[in-house]
Amino acid sequence: MIVVMKKSATEEIIQSVATRIESLGLKAHVIVGTERTVIAAIGEKRDGEAETLSGLDEVDKVVPILAPYKVASLETKEEPTTVRSHDLVMGGGHVGVIAGPCSVENESQILESARAVKAAGATGLRGGAFKPRTSPYSFQGLKEEGLKLLAAARDETGLAVVTEVMTPQHVDLVSRYADVLQIGARNMQNYHLLQAVGESDKPVLLKRGPSAAMDEFLLAAEYILDQGNPNVVLCERGVRTFETHTRFTLPLATVPFLKERTHLPIVIDPSHGTGIATLVPPMAAAAIAAECDGLIIEVHPNPSEALSDGAQSLTPEQFSDTMNRCRAIATAIGRSI
Ligand code: PEP
Ligand code: MN
Repeated sequence: MIVVMKKSATEEIIQSVATRIESLGLKAHVIVGTERTVIAAIGEKRDGEAETLSGLDEVDKVVPILAPYKVASLETKEEPTTVRSHDLVMGGGHVGVIAGPCSVENESQILESARAVKAAGATGLRGGAFKPRTSPYSFQGLKEEGLKLLAAARDETGLAVVTEVMTPQHVDLVSRYADVLQIGARNMQNYHLLQAVGESDKPVLLKRGPSAAMDEFLLAAEYILDQGNPNVVLCERGVRTFETHTRFTLPLATVPFLKERTHLPIVIDPSHGTGIATLVPPMAAAAIAAECDGLIIEVHPNPSEALSDGAQSLTPEQFSDTMNRCRAIATAIGRSI
């Protein structure tokens, strides 16, 4: 249920309604909007609850939330959520661009990447320190050493660091260095991990699982929101289909479809979505035209020598051209990048 407070409700009254909701055995998520505050009351519905709550002081009305994802739903919050970290802003008409290598490989590689993507206009730096690789024999990442290099790159450039966390045991460690925690596609339904990042105070970039349906994707986001972390960004990175011409199939309709259902920002990953560097710039441009709230793009100073995902990585020059193209489209549709 959504408990809609009157505009005149004070913070104290709102808190007392939230406490009452909790006393009914429900979880209360207070969502402060520019117009008014609502409280999402989440839990098993019991007879008479709606009537009890609608009778409380300063409560305007109580309405049911029909979607299975309660906090993520547009029914609960109509205003788009804006997620920020340093200069990286995603949502509310602003397109945030996160760029960098698939994996952090060494100091010069990550620093060179960071300087190049910053110069081209990115505000987020990506780079995996813990890598989920299909084969156990592939490069697994530099782990904490990689996190330290990312933090050094942030200190020099001011870019917000976005990096993957693969297990609940690493959430504290990764959070010490990262600005945004990435949940990889393979972990989209790792519910203990989702809950662990839900307890963190860092924004979370949640990638769609390659075979996850939209409701499953939104319910995965709900696991994070339900723990009290409101800063969740959804990332479409392509799904598995019968096609073999691209690494995955990148459905850009995800953006307008999700915009009709959730207030959370939506980011597109054209690198993993296609797996082919030449396809990345046009798909990035198309994603901007589809009104995504951000892009995450793999860029490597020397893609042919990358330890992972070189075939889909742009050179710094190609990335800079892509940014110019995306900027022109964003401007044309009234969005900032
Ligand atoms: C990555 O971002 O490098 C990555 C492993 O992505 P995904 O989880 O989408 O495969
Ligand atoms: Mn990658």
